[in-house]
Amino acid sequence: MISLLTLCPPFVILLWYTMTLAHGSLLQTFDYLSQNGLQGFLLIWPKPTATACKIIAIYAAFEAALQLLLPGNTVYGPISPTGHRPVYKANGVAAYLVTLVTYIALWWFEIFDPTIVYDRLGEIFSALIFGSFVFCVFLYIKGHLAPSSTDSGSSGNIIIDFYWGMELYPRIGKYFDIKVFTNCRFGMMSWAVLALTYCIKQYEENGKVADSMLVNTALMLVYITKFFWWEAGYWNTMDIAHDRAGFYICWGCLVWVPSVYTSPGMYLVNHPVYLGTQLAVTILVAGILCIYINYDCDRQRQEFRRTNGKCTVWGKAPSKIEASYTTTAGETKRSLLLTSGWWGLSRHFHYVPEILAAFFWTVPALFNHFLPYFYVIFLTILLFDRAKRDDDRCRSKYGKFWKLYCDKVPYRIIPGMY
Ligand code: NDP
Repeated sequence: MISLLTLCPPFVILLWYTMTLAHGSLLQTFDYLSQNGLQGFLLIWPKPTATACKIIAIYAAFEAALQLLLPGNTVYGPISPTGHRPVYKANGVAAYLVTLVTYIALWWFEIFDPTIVYDRLGEIFSALIFGSFVFCVFLYIKGHLAPSSTDSGSSGNIIIDFYWGMELYPRIGKYFDIKVFTNCRFGMMSWAVLALTYCIKQYEENGKVADSMLVNTALMLVYITKFFWWEAGYWNTMDIAHDRAGFYICWGCLVWVPSVYTSPGMYLVNHPVYLGTQLAVTILVAGILCIYINYDCDRQRQEFRRTNGKCTVWGKAPSKIEASYTTTAGETKRSLLLTSGWWGLSRHFHYVPEILAAFFWTVPALFNHFLPYFYVIFLTILLFDRAKRDDDRCRSKYGKFWKLYCDKVPYRIIPGMY
C-alpha cells in the first residue's frame, strides 16, 4: 500500500512526460533521469497552475451539476452486508451526451480551445494528483466523523483506512453520491473528453486526423458509451458494492483513469501512424466485437439475476446453482450463480474481451515503443488480481456453493488454461 501511495503519483508524471515530450521512448526518459537525477525529475514535474485548477474545477462542477440535475429513473443498488440498499438516479447516458455535445460545441463555436487541455496536460495531472490526495483525506475524515450510512468502519490502521477507504456509500447530503461522481462522472467521463481532446489536437496540428487516431478514439468512445449505457449495472459491481471509497478506488478514478487509461491516445497525438483502410477497419471491427462480448457477459449475468433465473441464456434455460449465505447481521439469504453461457466458460470470462479490447485500441500505435502498451499490461495484472480477490470473497461468502461452482466451471479466466 505504501509503495502504491508513493509511486503512483510520480509514475503518472513520468508517463505523461514520456508520451508527450520524450516520443514515447522509455530509454530517452531513462537517459534523462540517469543524467539529471532527482533534481531533473523535479524539474519535469509541472506545477499545478491556476489555469489547470480552473479547468478541473469547471469540469468537476459541470459534471456534479449534471449528476444532480438531469432527470433519470430511480434504480436500486444491491443490498449491502449491513442490509442497506443505496438508491440512485440513472442519468448517466444523458450526462455523457450533454458533456460530449457541450465540449464539441465549445470547440466548434471557438468558445474554448480543447488543445489548451493537451498543452497543459502535465499541469492538469499535477493538480489532479494533489487535489485528489486532499479529497481522499476528506473521505477519511468524513468516514470517521460523519459516515453517510451503516456501511462504514475502521480497520484500526490509519494507512489501511486511507488506502482502502472507510465508507462504502459516501454521500454529500441525501442525493450526491460520491463514488458515482469520482468513478463515473469524473473518471470515466474524463476518459471520453480526453480521447476527443487528443483527436482535436492532432487535427489542429496537422490539419487531418490519422486513421490510427480515428480507430483509437472510436474504440475508446464505443467502450465508454457502453459503460454509460450500462452504468446502473456498474453500480452492482465490486468497485461500488464491495470496494470502499479511499485512495485505491477514488484516487484511481480521479487521476489514474484520465492519465493511464487515455495514454495510448496521448502517444498517438504526436506520432500519427497511417494504417491504411483495410487494417484500420479490421482493428476497428475486432475491437468493437470484444467490447460487445464484454457487454454481453455483464448483461447476461445481470439479466439472470434480475429475472431470478427465469430468462434464456444462449437460447436455452440457464443452468444455475441456488446458493445461500449469511449476512453480517446473521440473516440467511439466497442468491443464484449462473453456470451456463459466458459464465459457464470460465468464472471471469468477461475479463478476456476487456483486455483484448484495450489491446485493439492500442495496436494502432504499432510496435515502435513499449509504453503505449502499459495500459494493456496494467489492466491484465489488475483483472487477474481482481479475479482472485473476487473468488476469495465469493468463497468466503458462499462456502460449499462456491466450491460446487468451481467444480462445474473449473477455470478462473481463460477457458482450458487458467
Ligand atoms: P463482476 O461483474 O464480475 O461481478 C462479480 C460479482 O458477480 C461477484 O462478486 C458475485 O457477486 C457475482 N457473481 C460471480 N459469479 C457469478 C455467477 N456465476 N453468476 C451470477 N453472479 C455471479 O465484477 P467486475 O466489477 O469485476 O466487472 C464488471 C465489469 O467491469 C466487467 O465488464 C469488467 O471487465 C469491467 N472492469 C473494468 C475495469 C477497468 O479498469 N477497465 C476494472 C474492473 C472491471 P455476488 O456477491 O452478488 O454474488
